[in-house]
Amino acid sequence: MLIDTHAHLDDPRFAGEIEPLLARARVFGVNRIITIGTDLSTSREAIELTREYPDDLAAVVGLSPFDADLYDGDYAQALESLAQQPEVVAWGEIGLEYHHDCAPHEVQKNVFLDQLRRARRLGLPVIIHDRDAHEDILSCLRQAEDFPAYREPPYGVMHCFSGDLEVAKQAVELGYLISIAGVVTFKNARDYQEIVRHLPLENLLVETDSPYLTPHPHRGKRNEPSFVRFTARKVAELQGVELTELARVTTANARRLFNLPQNEGHGGEIAYPLNGNLYLNLTSRCNNNCTFCVRHSKLGLGGYRLWLDQEPTAEELITAIGDPSRYAEVVFCGFGEPLLRPATVIAVAGWLREQGATVRIDTNGSAHRTLELPVGELVKLLQPVVNRLSVSLNAADAESYKKLCRPREGEAAFEAVKEFVQTAVKAGIPVTCTAVALPELDINAIETLANSWGADFQARSYKS
Ligand code: SF4
Ligand SMILES: [Zn+2]
Repeated sequence: MLIDTHAHLDDPRFAGEIEPLLARARVFGVNRIITIGTDLSTSREAIELTREYPDDLAAVVGLSPFDADLYDGDYAQALESLAQQPEVVAWGEIGLEYHHDCAPHEVQKNVFLDQLRRARRLGLPVIIHDRDAHEDILSCLRQAEDFPAYREPPYGVMHCFSGDLEVAKQAVELGYLISIAGVVTFKNARDYQEIVRHLPLENLLVETDSPYLTPHPHRGKRNEPSFVRFTARKVAELQGVELTELARVTTANARRLFNLPQNEGHGGEIAYPLNGNLYLNLTSRCNNNCTFCVRHSKLGLGGYRLWLDQEPTAEELITAIGDPSRYAEVVFCGFGEPLLRPATVIAVAGWLREQGATVRIDTNGSAHRTLELPVGELVKLLQPVVNRLSVSLNAADAESYKKLCRPREGEAAFEAVKEFVQTAVKAGIPVTCTAVALPELDINAIETLANSWGADFQARSYKS
């Protein structure tokens, strides 16, 4: 899991596109995005967006040095009252911009210092913009040490860090973290990469600065939070750690800095009624990445939010189900692949069957391959606890399957689906194979294949 610690989602280039953008971020493991204001109106928008997507976003409010001229007592007061909203996790972005012609340096410094003082008083960390102003930034941060503070370090982050190792060292000593943006992925950023190699991992964050600073290989296009993975990958390589370790450490750093909630609850529904059935949501993980998957564009279905931050236990699912006799069928689906959690499926399904419920599992049929479970063993455990299986087949041959469903197991996945269906049919479990009715698919060929394996067939309508 990654956190994009700096994005401007209020930008007009994202208008009307926030949900697909957040869904794409989730697909790539980006679970939280810090959206940053640069003046009063964008700060308000950051808060409003966070209210709409509280599980995915957190807001930051402040006045950037680009508009330092706007700052006066009233402006500061207005920002301060925004800063006290519950959605707000930091004050920013604030700082000094000496590259472009903005307000005079003295004005910028005063505005920066005043916001530093207010942030400290409110116990908020700050997000610092530093362009060609390293010395003055550090001297302001030293002055801020004398302001009354209601907060332990870290006091903030040097966003889109552009200084050298010495600047980084001093910022860290003063209690600030260092955030790396997409510039580190550029081929001509050798010197900068050399610096990033030596930064202390426990003080690092990653960010996109979306819609700006798009990392390689998408340089030139609009940036978005899901691209933070390219930056994270490069930083991991430079630091000589696995991507998972980099993600774990930078996420912990970001949580510490922003006091982010420690995943209370699941982040989405784990049991939800729809069309007379009850659907159980076990996981947001999947061993496929189908081109048509609804998860690329939506955070849920049927008005329910389904991306999970935390997977439910069998006990939690049983509590959420309540009385299963109210539903025609109880369906294991997940906004992901339920059989990636076979033990939980079997425990809950067993309980459901004892209650007399009709149980179905919607699956892609290849989880056993990913988990390296013998297919016969899995089917033997499923046989007594399910009434039927629905397997999304989607193709009549391995190559088309690989193209359409982009399975983690490559070409072996299609073979795994086949052995799963055939083994289940042999064990006496009724199986329906399904295919999304995409215009380019030969639905008849898929139906013929499914029937030859002893399964029924059903085409599903394509919902984008
Ligand atoms: S198998 Fe289902 S959940 Fe997984 S990627 Fe494909 S459509 Fe999405
Ligand atoms: Zn920014």
